[in-house]
Amino acid sequence: MAKNLSFSYSKMGMYKECPQKYKFRYVHMLPEKPKYYFAFGSALHAVMEFIFDPAKLSFPTLPQALEFFDNVWGKTNFEQKGYASAAKELEGYYEGRRIIESYYAANGANFVHPLSTEMKSTLEMDGLNLISILDRVDYLGDGKIKILDYKTGKTIQREPDQLYMYQKVVENSPAVKQLVLAKDPAVKEIKVEQLSFYHLPTLKEMSFERASDKEIFTFWQGVLQIADKIRAGQFEPTPGENQCRWCDYRNICPVFTGREYTGSVGYAPKPVAADTSTLANGSEPANPQDQLSEKIDRCGALEEEVKKLHQEIITLFKQNHFKRHFGKNYQAELIENAHLEFTDKNKVISLLREQGLLAKVLVPTQSTIAHLLEDASVAEAVKAQLRALAKQIEQETLVLHKTDE
Ligand code: SF4
Repeated sequence: MAKNLSFSYSKMGMYKECPQKYKFRYVHMLPEKPKYYFAFGSALHAVMEFIFDPAKLSFPTLPQALEFFDNVWGKTNFEQKGYASAAKELEGYYEGRRIIESYYAANGANFVHPLSTEMKSTLEMDGLNLISILDRVDYLGDGKIKILDYKTGKTIQREPDQLYMYQKVVENSPAVKQLVLAKDPAVKEIKVEQLSFYHLPTLKEMSFERASDKEIFTFWQGVLQIADKIRAGQFEPTPGENQCRWCDYRNICPVFTGREYTGSVGYAPKPVAADTSTLANGSEPANPQDQLSEKIDRCGALEEEVKKLHQEIITLFKQNHFKRHFGKNYQAELIENAHLEFTDKNKVISLLREQGLLAKVLVPTQSTIAHLLEDASVAEAVKAQLRALAKQIEQETLVLHKTDE
């Protein structure tokens, strides 16, 4: 018998985002780089689990919860958490403490023990081994359950697939049923009554009623289709600006390398902080992907340096009222010009129509409209109205020539 496919909401999300990314992560088993928002979220989830541990009779005080957070936070450094710097990590730390303090201020007097926290539920169904972690499950009586999922990102939005997955898992999970039966032995059937997202940074809860059987059926068909595609080895990349920009597998992805990743040496992801500008002996990297990455990085760094130098030269020109200056091999000239920019074309067009001037501009572009301002036959009052619709844009350009040219 074929082995069940291990599956979860996050695996499904990754496959939907890009099947090739899923393949890198779960077939080749290449880990992603640490992400600060996951580290931040998991520290706060740990605190919530600590506060509401159903095995404890009382709830921890705020100083105890903060101390617990400090311990969790202190276990890894900023790089392990995925922060860009120690300063950014410190911001995350203070934000975490602020959230815990405001959570206690708003809810501390009404804490209630849930049925379970951070419950890992595994469900075997239709050839899948479904794994879900339920942040908080409350028993509402009469076999009814409330599921609460903590969110720690900037915003909160309805994620129907996640809700459907929870409903499907909880209503079929023997572990959840066992917990309910321990409280209420007469219960015959478990029903999810309410699903909520709780946004910790703003203390806002977004609640949803249980999904209909039809919604769950459609969702489940989608899950099984994805599972079939995974089993059939269908991992066609679906590139897109958003997903590729932040994807850790770009330097080995066939969309970017033009070659299928085989897991061979030289196509493995680079270490997070590796400096690939040159090898230790000063030679170029041997791998064509690394050579290309190195040249792109070097080119980008040179462009940034040129921009910075241009700005410094322009500043010196202006401070000294120079228009032109010479180096040993090059001369530089500062060209300053200003033009009008018409941002609201509709207003300009209605004004021209009102004044019977539309026929004068074949196509109302920035330059044809600007030409009207030079036209002696256009009344000064109309020109003033046109100018009022424009923004003056100042431009400075530095032009460099070789002196022997
Ligand atoms: S780089 Fe883009 S196409 Fe390639 S795996 Fe990542 S998300 Fe998919």
